[in-house]
Amino acid sequence: MSILVIGSGGREHALCQALAADPAVTALACAPGNAGIAEVATVHPVPATDPGAVTALAKQLGADLVVIGPEAPLVGGVADAVRAAGIACFGPSAAAARIEGSKAFAKEVMAAAGVPTARSRVAETEAEAAAALDGFGPPYVVKDDGLAAGKGVVVTVDRAEALAHAAGCGRVVIEEYLDGPEASLFGISDGSTVLPLAPAQDFKRVGDGNTGPNTGGMGAYSPLPWAPNGLAGEVLDTVLAPTVAAMSRRGTPFAGLLYAGLALTSRGLRVVEFNCRFGDPETQVVLARLATPLAGVLSAAAAGDLAGLPPLRWRGEAAVTVVVAAAGYPGRPRTGDPIEGVAAAAAVPGVSVHHAGTALDQQGRLVTAGGRVLAVTATGADQAQARDRAYQGVAKIRIPGAHYRTDIAG
Ligand code: AMP
Repeated sequence: MSILVIGSGGREHALCQALAADPAVTALACAPGNAGIAEVATVHPVPATDPGAVTALAKQLGADLVVIGPEAPLVGGVADAVRAAGIACFGPSAAAARIEGSKAFAKEVMAAAGVPTARSRVAETEAEAAAALDGFGPPYVVKDDGLAAGKGVVVTVDRAEALAHAAGCGRVVIEEYLDGPEASLFGISDGSTVLPLAPAQDFKRVGDGNTGPNTGGMGAYSPLPWAPNGLAGEVLDTVLAPTVAAMSRRGTPFAGLLYAGLALTSRGLRVVEFNCRFGDPETQVVLARLATPLAGVLSAAAAGDLAGLPPLRWRGEAAVTVVVAAAGYPGRPRTGDPIEGVAAAAAVPGVSVHHAGTALDQQGRLVTAGGRVLAVTATGADQAQARDRAYQGVAKIRIPGAHYRTDIAG
């Protein structure tokens, strides 16, 4: 099988690493990729969000399957263009990707599917926002309706801050505050059948103790020793399967990765958000534990054949990933800083270093090229060992001004 992966982050590095390890994969390419991905796949400088360019590359490579990592190309219709050219694609259509592209649309689908979520109101003016905030009371939750790279949500007890965020976004979803721990569950869908993967937890805030602004994600771990037994089955029955059925009834079947961000509240499970693609950095830990070869699963999903697959197999190990971010992230990250110690980190037992915002400069040196630079991912016999190994790996990395959380999976 010849596979083309679209994207350039730690998630795509983890996807490429898992696909490269699958004996069914005979050729692996990635566009645009990054410096780490270039070690396991042939990289092509084609923009991820250009439907025509991605389709042309897939044809030129004779790809049997295109796997799309990030949300922007999905929302922009890249999967539609690839499929229209007769090439199998893992990733939803633009119409189905709206489940992530518009928070208001996601709420509409959840209402139709009977999926439990926070009560919410859409607001477009300051008066509507103020009325919604006062209706729900503090803590206030204000979400940009559109895509915002994980940074469009403000949760605050400060009413003025909540109003200011609403004014800065235009159209927002304002909702009730959900208490309780969060978990993420990925469902692989072929449009009608859904296979849940293993639950994971990610860390959205930039600082230790969940302080500071939201980010794309600063770390993750899987499995979740504290989660109730049967969580994946409950989420499949109450969230993933009804949502996929509702999307199909609307005439916009969801084939690809349906990511449910969940709050396990005192009143039961609630959906915080849906994403239309693998989460980053949860993918790094979930794929580290998946024993079933990945290419067969993704191609079965793309072909509508998931019902015929044997059950997924998992390694009995724990996995932890810690993101090393560039100076300035999640504001404007500094680029061009030298990165040292990657080989030493990868030499720690159980550790893989997933590149995210990296590039080679004109002298061929590895430098920072984005906000999240590396994800240092480790497996271990249990969470404590995986965590120790991940932090041993992080300690080997040297990037001027870089920062990371010290309490991932702690
Ligand atoms: P989202 O992009 O919707 O996942 O939101 C980002 C983060 O904001 C979530 O992971 C939560 O930590 C927090 N958040 C979102 N919605 C709520 C809510 N209704 N109640 C409490 N926290 C929330």
